[in-house]
Amino acid sequence: MFKKILIANRGEIALRIQRACREMGIQSVVVYSEADRNAKYVKLADESVCIGPAQSALSYLNMPAIIASAEVTDAEAIHPGYGFLSENADFAERVEKSGFVFIGPTPESIRMMGDKVSAKQAMVKAGVPCVPGGEGALSEDAKATVQAARAIGYPVIIKAAGGGGGRGMRVVHTEAALLHAVQTTRSEAGAAFGNPTVYMEKFLENPRHIEIQVMADAHRNAVWLGERDCSMQRRHQKIIEEAPAPGIPRRVIERIGERCAAACKKIGYRGAGTFEFLFQDGEFYFIEMNTRVQVEHPVTELTTGIDIVQTQIRVAAGEKLPFTQRQIGLRGHAIECRINAEDAYKFTPSPGRITMWHPPGGPGVRVDSHAYTNYVVPPNYDSMIGKIIVHGDSREQALARMRIALSETLVEGISTNIPLHRELMVDAKFIEGGTNIHYLEGWLAQHSR
Ligand code: ADP
Repeated sequence: MFKKILIANRGEIALRIQRACREMGIQSVVVYSEADRNAKYVKLADESVCIGPAQSALSYLNMPAIIASAEVTDAEAIHPGYGFLSENADFAERVEKSGFVFIGPTPESIRMMGDKVSAKQAMVKAGVPCVPGGEGALSEDAKATVQAARAIGYPVIIKAAGGGGGRGMRVVHTEAALLHAVQTTRSEAGAAFGNPTVYMEKFLENPRHIEIQVMADAHRNAVWLGERDCSMQRRHQKIIEEAPAPGIPRRVIERIGERCAAACKKIGYRGAGTFEFLFQDGEFYFIEMNTRVQVEHPVTELTTGIDIVQTQIRVAAGEKLPFTQRQIGLRGHAIECRINAEDAYKFTPSPGRITMWHPPGGPGVRVDSHAYTNYVVPPNYDSMIGKIIVHGDSREQALARMRIALSETLVEGISTNIPLHRELMVDAKFIEGGTNIHYLEGWLAQHSR
């Protein structure tokens, strides 16, 4: 096992990885920007290195500074967390070329999944069902594009091959709007992702977002750890996640889970990963694979009892998966609410000093957050300041525990989306379960104030 790991991230996930290291007796090196100098996990780390100013481009995305920090501290491996450099194949390659272990998949896997066109092609080959639509990139040929859209049937969605974070997508309802939409998406994609490649697929009108967590080692063992329902989204960004997905029969989930594990073996996948699907009318349609730990990993940890971050570290060190598929059981129900420093209904960011932080507790409650009283939320990064995760024997119990947890939580000095979560936890449709990816935006439109 490694003696020392460098954590190339910030915020709650840096703390989460640090906790995994401490439990395993591994020393942790934390890198931080000037804006994160006073973070508690920086003080708790065995060693810490300032890698640059607040701007991500000069710190958390600064590859030479991160690799140099690993060199000077004698770290053996680098955990990238999520976001920042976690899905950057060039970074993974540079880490390995510099003699460190990248805690994640091979650069080849990251590259293949980072391009949604090649990811989809690989999935079709591996027998994973995909959204109907052309399997290749769209050519410049207008006639062929019109033909392709007719074959799929309207509405279609034009997506950037290199897109991410819910950006670089355009829905097209009529042939008259098609070519203009393709052109606009192409130029936007070129500017935003440095890759103008776009592709087309069927636009599904009322799907749920269901994803499968997988875990694989370097010895061709691969398992799936159940599903997560992440349909509660605003602007394609998840805010509530749960496991298992309400109302979907187990055998339907098992069939897709087994396909995902088999696909991992086929493509030689290593580490933690997530297969994201849209689920509509009883069918799964692959949209993309994330080659890293996800924000919502705790709901899977609570329902399986498996520590995903520790397992990532173990397989990166070359160990075999410590469990087989048959040993993975699912218990109860877990729900996660992402706590963002933002206005609960207008969504404007609300950075600044937290004058009072009182997190909830009690049976089945877990809080993953780096915040504390007097912590200053910097304006430079994502607005998520933590996650409240609850576990119960049933979905009803989990919901009750989340309502109690949210009622106990006290955050003063900044605005958060806790009031929104409190309302959603008593919403009749959400309580019923199985809402689709458009539900939250519809709800917000009706409840605008
Ligand atoms: P990103 O990498 O930007 O997150 P995804 O491909 O994962 O992009 O899609 C993000 C979200 O966009 C999905 O969760 C879904 O809400 C919506 N979406 C993507 N593809 C489709 C589609 N074919 N039909 C309907 N909605 C889609």
